[in-house]
Amino acid sequence: MDLILRDARIAGREQDGAMDVGIEHGRIAVIAPALAAEGPTRHLGGRLLAPGFVETHIHLDKSRILDRCRADSGDLAEAIAEVARAKRGFTAEDVYARGAATLERAILHGTTHMRTHLEVDPGIGLRGFEGILPLVKHYAWAIDLRICVFPQEGLLNNPGTEELMLAALSAGASVVGAAPYTDSDPRGQIDRVFAMARQFDIDIDMHLDFGAESSSLDLDYVCELTDRFGYGGRVAIGHVTKLSTVTPARFAEAARRLAGAGVALTVLPSTDLYLMGRGAEHSAMRGVTHAHRLLRAGVNCSLSTNNVLNPFTPFGDVSLIRAANLYANIAHVGARADVCECFEMITSRSARLLRLERYGVRVGDQADLVVLDAPDRASAVAELAIPLMGFKRGRQTFERAPARLLSP
Ligand SMILES: [Zn+2]
Repeated sequence: MDLILRDARIAGREQDGAMDVGIEHGRIAVIAPALAAEGPTRHLGGRLLAPGFVETHIHLDKSRILDRCRADSGDLAEAIAEVARAKRGFTAEDVYARGAATLERAILHGTTHMRTHLEVDPGIGLRGFEGILPLVKHYAWAIDLRICVFPQEGLLNNPGTEELMLAALSAGASVVGAAPYTDSDPRGQIDRVFAMARQFDIDIDMHLDFGAESSSLDLDYVCELTDRFGYGGRVAIGHVTKLSTVTPARFAEAARRLAGAGVALTVLPSTDLYLMGRGAEHSAMRGVTHAHRLLRAGVNCSLSTNNVLNPFTPFGDVSLIRAANLYANIAHVGARADVCECFEMITSRSARLLRLERYGVRVGDQADLVVLDAPDRASAVAELAIPLMGFKRGRQTFERAPARLLSP
């Protein structure tokens, strides 16, 4: 074997007890108790071996700009305006350096796959794209990075943006996104984004229904187009905070619609919690959509980071375990099976959203793995388990020593 991981508890099979995992040619070749094989060996001491975390929604290009922005009112409008102003000063080198710093933090927290949303418009041109694109190759040894290009400042109201999106899609972006709530014609933007997706035969990942005013939901229209164009399983929507404010009956109707169309939903707990409920002087709403209720209706969901150290979210360590734990607190998740689902929403469910192949800890899967200082998935989420080692295609990518007490 190229590598043997001994005494591992495998995520999803914790009840099987300790197993040995043999890796050859970047893939999992064998899983067995007391494996009779030779090769370089790591002993995991009964710790959890999980597939690497999957970040479906982050913004590397505008991470780490807190020192350049105001955050007085702390609401969504200010965040968009402040970042729009700051990004006029971005250079490709600056975007690369900040993106690399954030990417390295993600790798050190066990993330092995990432979809980064990236904005283009006449203000920034392609400089953000030119800063992020080299990261795909430079960090391929540790993470699969894909770029979703989108118009943060609107599409139909912002001439020149579509040409820049098409240029990025022709030069390496592989997913198309949207932010209809900043457009003078939200449905027109959704139409154009579907047209681009079909032109390039690529998946769609939209920022959608971000806000608290829920008299109308764009998700109904997105589901309609998904059905019309046979795009089920290839469309994701993020935030959808309006669903946290609707009646149970309206929520159930939306869940049925999303499940029927095959549209997945990403909850971004840090940003949603930070930006929502700003108008309230007391009893502020949480503004975080309840993913578990959607899961029970058959909707696929993921949990992700979104923004790091900028006016949208002035905090963040790019830890998906922390995102899962934060969401569990906000959503009142307590039952053990539901806590496990939080883990699935940063691993297998996120992988399904990104349509990853050979993802998991089964024979034949790509050996993209993380070792957590926990015995099982529920404990990992509950206790914010520390990632101790990561592997990409069977090669170790980081190591962190477990903490130890120094008693007198
Ligand atoms: Zn976002």
